[in-house]
This record gives sequence, structure tokens and C-alpha cells, in this order.
Amino acid sequence: MSIRQNIEQVKQEILKFKNYYKKDQNIELLAVSKTKPFSDIVEAYNCGQRSFGESYAQEACEKVELSREYKLNDIIWYFIGPIQSNKTRMIAEHFDWVLSCDRKKILQRLNDQRPYHMGKLNICLQINISNEQQKSGISVQEVKELAEYVSNNLPNLCLRGLMAVALDTTDLCILEDEFSQMHQLFCDLKDNYSNIDTLSLGMTQDMETAIKCGTTMVRIGTKIFGARNYN
Ligand SMILES: *Cc1c(COP(=O)(O)O)cnc(C)c1O
Repeated sequence: MSIRQNIEQVKQEILKFKNYYKKDQNIELLAVSKTKPFSDIVEAYNCGQRSFGESYAQEACEKVELSREYKLNDIIWYFIGPIQSNKTRMIAEHFDWVLSCDRKKILQRLNDQRPYHMGKLNICLQINISNEQQKSGISVQEVKELAEYVSNNLPNLCLRGLMAVALDTTDLCILEDEFSQMHQLFCDLKDNYSNIDTLSLGMTQDMETAIKCGTTMVRIGTKIFGARNYN
């Protein structure tokens, strides 16, 4: 299967599930291109794909720079991986969005290092909804405080919503429970802040349940670009 065929298929599935669960929510498709060559991004771009997600700062920034060289200037770049403090500057200087924010210190640095001419950096708070020790993200209890901190203290960031990676399981009850909690948190946040419009849930394995529970942005890697090879 080609990248073109994969994208078509993913889009059709999104539409099918959206209609099935009667959601009137628009769902953005974020193509997760981490570890994949720049030529794959160009191929997806030529199929009309404009939103891309990357996880590794160095690799990611090289791809962003290539996209500028190739004048693919309407790509919207999303950083979705864990963030070390020595990488915040390059992320602030290359990305449009950061979905994986989970620490005050990192948020503060992204705010301070955001170049003025790029406008505000869009951010989502990452929630560790499955409460796994090795996983990034804040707890459900910390959302309120961190959201307040961003909106009161960090003028170069725009808080847009929440992101989570569910437990790696095929148990639909667990997935639905986690995603429903996320949806509730998202609604609460929306009631308290302007500009909240993004609930990023769902990957290749759990896209259907995410759509059922009201995701506004699925993050799809494997189903578009094939399995990743970590060598
Ligand atoms: C890699 C990654 C994805 C894509 O996962 P697939 O299972 O390949 O679709 C989505 N979200 C995050 C945060 C990721 O790191």
C-alpha cells in the first residue's frame, strides 16, 4: 500500500466512525512522521496532508528546515514527544504546536524562547490518563493548576487543549474509560478558558474509540507510513 492509499483509507475510516457515532465534531488528521524520511512527508504533502507530528527534537527540526528549503511553507508542525530542557529553544524556534507539555519549567522556557515574529506557540497539556509510571504527562488533578499557570504567566503561549496516550491495550472498556475522562476534562477546561478547541486522542490502534469519545485530532503514524524501525 502506498502512502497515498493509506491516507485515503484513514480519512475514510475517520469519516465512517464520525458518522457512526453521530459526532458533529470536526476531526483533524495529524500525520505522525517520526523516524520516517523527509521523502515520506513530501509524498503525504502531495496528497494534501498539511499537519505533521514529530517526536525527536533534532530529527524534527532538520525536517522542518528541509520543508522550508522545499517551500512547503503551509505545513503545520506539531511536536508530540518528551521534551528535555536543552531542546526547548529549537522546539520554540521551529514548531507551530507542542502537544506534549507537562512541566512548568519546560512551559516557561518555551514561552521565553519563542521568537516574537512567529507569534504565539500553541500548546496542549499532556495528561498521563493511564497513570503509568514510565509515561509522560500530568495527573488529572494537576490540570487546573497548570492551565492557570500558563494562562496567567506565559503570554507567548496559547493554551489550546489536552493530549493523551491511552494504555497500550485492546480492551475497549479501558480505552473508553480513559478517553471519556479526557473528554470531561476537556469540557471543564473549555468552560474556563477561551481558545480551547483541541482534544488530541487516538492513534493507529485506538482511533475508533477516540472518535467515539469526542477526539478533535487523531495522531496517526503506522497506518499512514508503515511500521517504524528503531535502529
Ligand atoms: C508515535 C506516536 C503516535 C503515532 O502512533 P501510531 O501507533 O504509529 O499511529 C501518536 N502519538 C504519539 C504521542 C506518538 O509518540
